Amino acid sequence: MSTAARPQPRPSLLEIDAYVPGRSKAAPGVKLHKLSSNETPLGPSPKAIEAFSAVGDHLERYPDGASTALREAIADTYGLNPNRIVCGNGSDELLTLLASAYLAPGDEGLYSQFGFLVYKIAILAAGATPVIAPETDHTTDVDALLARVTPRTKVVFLANPNNPTGTYLPITEVRRLHAGLPPHVLLVLDAAYAEYVRRNDYESGIEMVSSAENVVMTRTFSKVYGLAALRVGWLYGPEHVVDVLNRLRGPFNLSAAAIAAGAAAVRDKAFVDAAVRHNDDWLAWTAEEVRKLGLAVTPSVGNFILIHFPEAAGRTAADADEFLIGRGIVLRRVTAYGLPNALRMTIGDEEANRATVAALADFLARPA
Ligand SMILES: *Cc1c(COP(=O)(O)O)cnc(C)c1O
Repeated sequence: MSTAARPQPRPSLLEIDAYVPGRSKAAPGVKLHKLSSNETPLGPSPKAIEAFSAVGDHLERYPDGASTALREAIADTYGLNPNRIVCGNGSDELLTLLASAYLAPGDEGLYSQFGFLVYKIAILAAGATPVIAPETDHTTDVDALLARVTPRTKVVFLANPNNPTGTYLPITEVRRLHAGLPPHVLLVLDAAYAEYVRRNDYESGIEMVSSAENVVMTRTFSKVYGLAALRVGWLYGPEHVVDVLNRLRGPFNLSAAAIAAGAAAVRDKAFVDAAVRHNDDWLAWTAEEVRKLGLAVTPSVGNFILIHFPEAAGRTAADADEFLIGRGIVLRRVTAYGLPNALRMTIGDEEANRATVAALADFLARPA
């Protein structure tokens, strides 16, 4: 039967390669170390777990559609106006809503070569055209982005720091990018890993949002807050963008559990500080140990590292991935990002980090 005889989606949707999440299974019979999705090894704050559990007493009630308790907790923590915050079912939802609100067929959405894959999906889902600017040393190149701005450009997505590379742009470079964009172009700063960054020249973008009409910042509870399972993200933006998203989003886009756990998590500052300290120590240790094995590691300010493998038979990223899975260690293949010779490793707990370095040493020592 011809396909014309059945319902047809917008053709651009068939250009989307569905997002493939990091694997979560290793070989049977070995202890699993899941280092494939940048989840925190410390889990969520005990206060978040308690708040989550309390929601179980009243599952018959709709959640607060405005996520008020969560917006207020975020606003208190970061010193923001709660009316300029929109919460999302993960920040992925907010990225998708932004694309569908500000892009139409014929428009262009711009992002960087190794930029987070959700941008491409969101741009295509909106029927618009993805435009990609090349990177230098696996780092966003502001001049390359600005050179690709056309009259059709409506949205620019920038992950800072970026996943899967772990590199970042100093705030001066982000400002230079903003200064080069026409005022009708929306600059989306995806700061999913902002909490982890310990660099004096880094800012997540809060001040830029406060002083511009065309900048938004997205954040997530999936990484340092350890709530990936609940799907909690938020956005800080100008009032006119917040107004549009509040019209477009689902009326109850966050579950009651997500609202309660997120609010408790963001108020537990001591817990986040401990998670960041853990990452500081083990990010430095792991990157150094992997480099000592002779593998190149892209300098990272996030909670993960990008490890580059030789192209030699028996030593490739695909070979390493298979070997590590046999040891229970699951890293992330990044071929879909155009990085077939690299694996991304999330910084785990001490046992996982040591096990991964030891396994990589064994992998490189075996006969190819
Ligand atoms: C993990 C991640 C997100 C967060 O996604 P959620 O939908 O909030 O879980 C957003 N952007 C980047 C770059 C990420 O790596």
